[in-house]
Amino acid sequence: MTVRATSRGAQRTSLEGTRAEVLICGASFAGLAVARELAASGASVLVLDRYEIGERQTSACACPTPWLEALGLSDSIKQELPYMSFTTPGGSVRYRLPWSWSAFDYRLLCQLLWAQCGEARFETAKVESVGQQKADGEIEVITDRGTISAPLVVDALGWRRVLSSPHYQPPEAPLSRGLEVHPDHDGSGDALDIWIERSIVRQGYGWRVPAGDEARIGVGSYDPVQHVKEPTVALAERLDRGAVRYQGNWFPHRLREGTEDQIFFAGDSAGHCFPLSGEGIRTAFYFGIACGRELRAVVEGRNDRAAALLSYERFNAAHKRPFAIALALQRLIPALPPWLLTAMLSLIGSQRIIDRVFGWYLNQAAPQFVDAIPAKATAPADQRQALKGASR
Ligand SMILES: Cc1cc2nc3c(=O)[nH]c(=O)nc-3n(C[C@H](O)[C@H](O)[C@H](O)COP(=O)(O)OP(=O)(O)OC[C@H]3O[C@@H](n4cnc5c(N)ncnc54)[C@H](O)[C@@H]3O)c2cc1C
Repeated sequence: MTVRATSRGAQRTSLEGTRAEVLICGASFAGLAVARELAASGASVLVLDRYEIGERQTSACACPTPWLEALGLSDSIKQELPYMSFTTPGGSVRYRLPWSWSAFDYRLLCQLLWAQCGEARFETAKVESVGQQKADGEIEVITDRGTISAPLVVDALGWRRVLSSPHYQPPEAPLSRGLEVHPDHDGSGDALDIWIERSIVRQGYGWRVPAGDEARIGVGSYDPVQHVKEPTVALAERLDRGAVRYQGNWFPHRLREGTEDQIFFAGDSAGHCFPLSGEGIRTAFYFGIACGRELRAVVEGRNDRAAALLSYERFNAAHKRPFAIALALQRLIPALPPWLLTAMLSLIGSQRIIDRVFGWYLNQAAPQFVDAIPAKATAPADQRQALKGASR
């Protein structure tokens, strides 16, 4: 059973009338990446989430290792996976990637990121909707602890896009759904394993992410109407593992607008999860950083809000092509006859092609984007060590 760390009842004082220069709604990958970019900017930054930071894991938590290294998050890595395997009804292929995946500890990663967010404040609150936009530029955000306002507001609340109207609602919205189980594991394995088999899921794939003392085994369906519980249990059984410790969620598969009604959107709220692969952590970091840089320019007086919104929307739109390619492949691959898919996976199997294909894929949101961590924003080594110990 999940132990709730989030304070309840009398501990939840009212936040009515609270004001910040930057209000970041959502304290997961995207929200924390935004806050990190604002460290040492001198701005008053308030981050909200309905749960404590790192309390509720939202994914299988596999990310390209170079991104975790670039963000100074290597201490959260539980297992590095230099290979990928793809299994179809016709057989299996195994690729050595030009970079590796790493499965990480969600709680620790969030804490390490938060330690880089400088003076930002955090409060637990459920964000309900956007309120009035005042003449002086203040935007009101309505939460279960009262109305909070800021001139700069970010929605990093995930797939629902809470601060837009209407929200995204399954099954009509362009969303995929995923569910996974977390049975015990012995730390063995060096590959992120993928199954593309219609007998598991008609349009989608199954996965196994070895993550040290647990394996993350799950199924994702591009069709939101298809249920994924039975296929997840069946895949776990096939791998001789118990279907225990479930977690699941929706994830977007279409790029959305990066701004709307003076609000910035980053991560799943802006559809920044890649179609086909369903990989959304790296892109939440990437677009979160881009958004944070625009906000920083405003709080430091180098830009105004209107120009920052425009610049961020342009940055978002500049990524339409890779997202469209991935969406086209997401539609095409499930329609291919299995023998053709098997043949294509074998053809890609030369190291030169693997390096090219996966190099292109990483470059759509490359780790070099992070740049050096600003000195004032880096969590000191002793603090990192203390966090690592505490999360065990
Ligand atoms: C089963 C599954 C496995 C996945 N595995 C991977 C993977 O291995 N690698 C990968 O790259 N991607 C994976 N994804 C996709 C990935 O999880 C998302 O793309 C990623 O989490 C997006 O990050 P985010 O910060 O935008 O949103 P989220 O991680 O969804 O964070 C949103 C935050 O907002 C908070 N929140 C939501 N609503 C409210 C509200 N009303 N009020 C206050 N707070 C709120 C939540 O508590 C949460 O902290 C997976 C998805 C699923 C469903």
